[in-house]
Amino acid sequence: KDFRNNVKPNWCPGCGDFSVQAAIQRASANVGLDPEQLAVVSGIGCSGRISGYINSYGFHGIHGRSLPIAQGLKMANRELTVIASGGDGDGFAIGLGHTIHAIRRNVNITYIVMDNQIYGLTKGQTSPRSSTGFKTKSTPQGSIEPALAPMEMALTAGATFVAQSFSSDLKELTALIEAGLNHEGFSLINVFSPCVTYNKINTYDWFKENLTKLSDVEGYDPSNKEEAMSLLMEKQGLVTGLIYQNSHQPSYQELIPDYSEEPLSSHDIRLEEATFDQLVKEFM
Ligand code: SF4
Repeated sequence: KDFRNNVKPNWCPGCGDFSVQAAIQRASANVGLDPEQLAVVSGIGCSGRISGYINSYGFHGIHGRSLPIAQGLKMANRELTVIASGGDGDGFAIGLGHTIHAIRRNVNITYIVMDNQIYGLTKGQTSPRSSTGFKTKSTPQGSIEPALAPMEMALTAGATFVAQSFSSDLKELTALIEAGLNHEGFSLINVFSPCVTYNKINTYDWFKENLTKLSDVEGYDPSNKEEAMSLLMEKQGLVTGLIYQNSHQPSYQELIPDYSEEPLSSHDIRLEEATFDQLVKEFM
């Protein structure tokens, strides 16, 4: 059950994404998966490289489109555990439409966002997660937009599992990924994953000073959506831990009345050449 491969990540030394890679590998082993039972689908960005750095099936897709591929994979082969991953630009800008619909659909996959509040691969532009006043080459006088609030958005969209963690807290991050993998439905895990090269504001030290661990909030109940929302608003989203979980809502697959017992991937769907030609003619 070794999810390490021999590919050396080309992330900058100190990039938060290293911990996310390690946490996925540990969590996958801890929940008892074998590498051939896991598929990791990623989008574009520095974090998108992660699908090549884990010993599992991997698919490095196009920008913002990891979720349609991941959901399709899970629907075709329910025996596969599917993780989608990418950055905040990937999932909360170009891919936001997919993120919202995946949340409300509740297909049983885990989505891990490496949130560094900047576009790193393209050398440091303001992202939807950058805070107001954030100065980059694309906003030299400071961003005039408020940052997107992904956790609040997920709760509003009907998410059944919402969690947040920090790259330097490998223990918490691993435990949350394990919980996400065990959740019967869509799990969203946003990870504060510092970009040490381009984001000089949201650094490891900045997060250490500003984050509140939910395990330190006395009596916090992750099954209470109102409490989750009000704490997020009070702390401006800067919390880590399991924010909300609804274990009672059935997943998308469970709601399909005639969902075959046999995964689609095990059906023989090869077409005779004549049938294929006929189909092509019909669609011409
Ligand atoms: Fe990580 Fe930033 Fe380097 Fe990209 S540019 S690998 S996000 S530190």
